Amino acid sequence: MAFPKVFLKSGKEQSIHRFHPWVFSGAIHSTSDEITEGEVVEVYSQKDEFLAMGHAQTGSIAVRLFAFSRVNPDQAFWNQRVINALHLRKLAGFTDNPDTNAWRLIFGESDGLPGLIVDIYNQTAVMQLHTVGMYLIRDIISDALQKLPELNLKAIYNKSEGAMPFKADVTAENGFVWGKTSERTAMENGLKFKVDFEKGQKTGYFIDQRENRALLEKYCKDKKVLNLFCYTGGFSLYALRGGASLVHSVDSSERAVEITRQNVALNFPDDSRHEAFAEDAFKFLNKDQAQYDVMVLDPPAFAKHVNVVPNALQGYRKLNAKAIEKIKPGGIIFTFSCSQVINRETFRKAVFTAAAKSGRSVKILHHMQQPEDHPVSIYHPESEYLKGLILYVE
Ligand code: SAH
Repeated sequence: MAFPKVFLKSGKEQSIHRFHPWVFSGAIHSTSDEITEGEVVEVYSQKDEFLAMGHAQTGSIAVRLFAFSRVNPDQAFWNQRVINALHLRKLAGFTDNPDTNAWRLIFGESDGLPGLIVDIYNQTAVMQLHTVGMYLIRDIISDALQKLPELNLKAIYNKSEGAMPFKADVTAENGFVWGKTSERTAMENGLKFKVDFEKGQKTGYFIDQRENRALLEKYCKDKKVLNLFCYTGGFSLYALRGGASLVHSVDSSERAVEITRQNVALNFPDDSRHEAFAEDAFKFLNKDQAQYDVMVLDPPAFAKHVNVVPNALQGYRKLNAKAIEKIKPGGIIFTFSCSQVINRETFRKAVFTAAAKSGRSVKILHHMQQPEDHPVSIYHPESEYLKGLILYVE
């Protein structure tokens, strides 16, 4: 089958030789045909050397590459990609762990499936399509998932409304694409939680904090814990199980706070140690909050684009400075950034500036990251998005 060709400007093939999976619009010299968004294209250097294949996209990333050799992107090809992704998760023990049945099966570029996220919640797969290319093959992906006996799926839900680039000429609707289920709870390290894949953020739960939550549990015995930006209360559940004497969860979304309360009730019925507040985290911290021994700061991505990095850094500095100022002596702060465009070093500098402002002694105990079901492709540093520092404040 002949695919339209994209020719790069001279020298722009370098990043593809290094297996970087994006072609930016500025790198393109010309195309053989008029290209429609989502179409499979072949990418060539200006000297007519074949480089890679990918899905065309409108916007600054013009092609999302899925292969660096000539392939036939048919059902068998995509099946194999999904099987490869499963292989890694199997190796990491996710397919037969009764204590944790929420995990990421497919993490976009890192799994050679740019623009596709698939999260597993027990017997439901929730897929999120971020490109028109993936949207067009959603049935192929759904078929590939159904074929995996290890997953033993009952249903596949497509949660792509709002996930598509805003310039895309496709309206993705949410809904079951295969099977149906009324099950809305999953398990993480033995804790139960509701997954709101219909109305919640992302695929309904933030799976990527699993390991970091488990570490929090260790630091909570007899402590007063504040979980800011709690969403559905993941960190709060671990703090309670870890023996915290009090846990306060804060999120600006009423709905998130309500689900947090439900999740606490699901695991710790009639536990009076927990209270949740629907409030702005900055306002909450600005009140006289000197009682906490442990704080979790897990804000949404303050920067979604390089243009807003300076403002975002300001946000991280302000938040961390306030927390470092308020925490009790000998306290622990779990601080995170999930902004893809802010790297580890830059985040650390923001926290350094915040610490210096307080004048308190601050030590880094752990460097945290996304877990192994969100692997980082060595060729695609942008896939490393979650950074965390665990601080000890004297
Ligand atoms: N820690 C969570 C994930 C946090 S996602 C977990 O482990 O699952 C970020 C959350 O911050 C969202 O729930 C969002 O509603 C909330 N949020 C965004 N801006 C906020 C603000 N200014 N104050 C409080 N919460 C905010």
